[in-house]
Amino acid sequence: MFDKILIANRGEIALRILRAAKELGIATVAVHSTADAEAMHVKLADESVCIGPPAARDSYLNIPALLSACEITGADAIHPGYGFLSENARFAEILAEHNISFIGPKAEHIRIMGDKIEAKRTALALGIPCVPGSEGGIDNDQDAMRVAREIGFPVLVKAAAGGGGRGMKVARTEADLLNALHTAKTEAKAAFGDDAVYLEKYLEKPRHIEIQILGDGKGNAIHLGERDCSLQRRHQKVLEESPSPALNAEQRAEIGEICAAAMRKLQYSGAGTIEFLYEEGKFYFIEMNTRIQVEHPVTEMITGIDLVNEQIRIAAGSPLTIRQEDVRFDGAAIECRVNAEHPATFRPSPGKIAYYHPPGGLGVRVDSAVYQGYTIPPNYDSLVGKLIVHGRNRNEALMRLRRALDEFIVDGIDTTLPLFRTLVRNTDVQNGTYDIHWLEKFLAKGGMDE
Ligand code: ADP
Repeated sequence: MFDKILIANRGEIALRILRAAKELGIATVAVHSTADAEAMHVKLADESVCIGPPAARDSYLNIPALLSACEITGADAIHPGYGFLSENARFAEILAEHNISFIGPKAEHIRIMGDKIEAKRTALALGIPCVPGSEGGIDNDQDAMRVAREIGFPVLVKAAAGGGGRGMKVARTEADLLNALHTAKTEAKAAFGDDAVYLEKYLEKPRHIEIQILGDGKGNAIHLGERDCSLQRRHQKVLEESPSPALNAEQRAEIGEICAAAMRKLQYSGAGTIEFLYEEGKFYFIEMNTRIQVEHPVTEMITGIDLVNEQIRIAAGSPLTIRQEDVRFDGAAIECRVNAEHPATFRPSPGKIAYYHPPGGLGVRVDSAVYQGYTIPPNYDSLVGKLIVHGRNRNEALMRLRRALDEFIVDGIDTTLPLFRTLVRNTDVQNGTYDIHWLEKFLAKGGMDE
């Protein structure tokens, strides 16, 4: 097992990793930018190292600074969390060259899944169903038109290097296609330095359902059921739940086993998420994330499995100790991503938290790194914390969520708490009858206007 883990991240996920390490009796090193000197993960870690100025490229993405921090502190492993360097295959290789363990999958698997064209090709070869689309990248206008006619409009132009919902353009008709193609290429070049794009059938009313998997790199892999992340704004997840209101146990076991079998073939190591769109009873692979995800707690709440603990143990070389038949899905869990943003305009609202009172009680979990008097810096994403509730069934989880949201006080900044208080009282949300476009339509209709 590792002696000391350096956590190459910030915010709630840094704290989440720190907690798992502490429970395993492993010492922790926090790294931080100058903007994060007062952050909670810095205060709670055994040691901390300042790795640069506020801009992420000079601190949290600064590989030489992270290597120096390992050298100074004697850390023998790095957990990258999500975002930042978590899906950077080169980073994983550099750590290996320096005899530091990367708590994540093999570099080759990060690389395959990081290129969405390559990822789809691999998924198909592994027997995972995919969204109909171009077989590889789209090279020119004629190619685009030919493929679009084949799969039928509407189509979606997507960036091979895409992430965070960027570089995606819908073309509803032939007249829209070339414009969508060129805009997506320009956006992809600007955002990812890579203008490779591909085409997919645009699904009109899908749900976003993803499967959590764990593999030990030795050919063992299991699935931990699904998360339904259909409530999205600008292709970004807002609320996630498990189980999905749209699936039954048979469908879960079927798609879960397809994913676990694929991961066994790949000899995948660590935690990963296989993302699908789900429409009319069918699953369509869109991408795989080779890291821990923001919404992982909903799976932890219903399975009782600590995913970060598993990541650490697997990276240290332990075989999987959980067998598929040991995995139990107990009740229902829902997570709200509470952001420092105006609840209707979504304008970011960094600043000082004047008063902070998180909810508590049975079945309530708050994963957050903020505290009263803490100033949220403007330099990073706007997540204040995640409120996760668990109940014996979905109804109980919803009742508990309503109660917990009413208890949650964050004063001094705007947060999206009022949005969730409205959503939890909405009939479609209560019935679970929403797709990936539901929230955008609700907001456009003025659902949050008073
Ligand atoms: P990113 O890596 O940028 O998050 P994804 O491929 O995971 O991109 O897609 C993000 C979201 O975009 C999905 O959850 C879904 O809402 C929407 N989306 C992606 N592909 C399609 C598609 N073929 N049809 C309809 N919506 C899609």
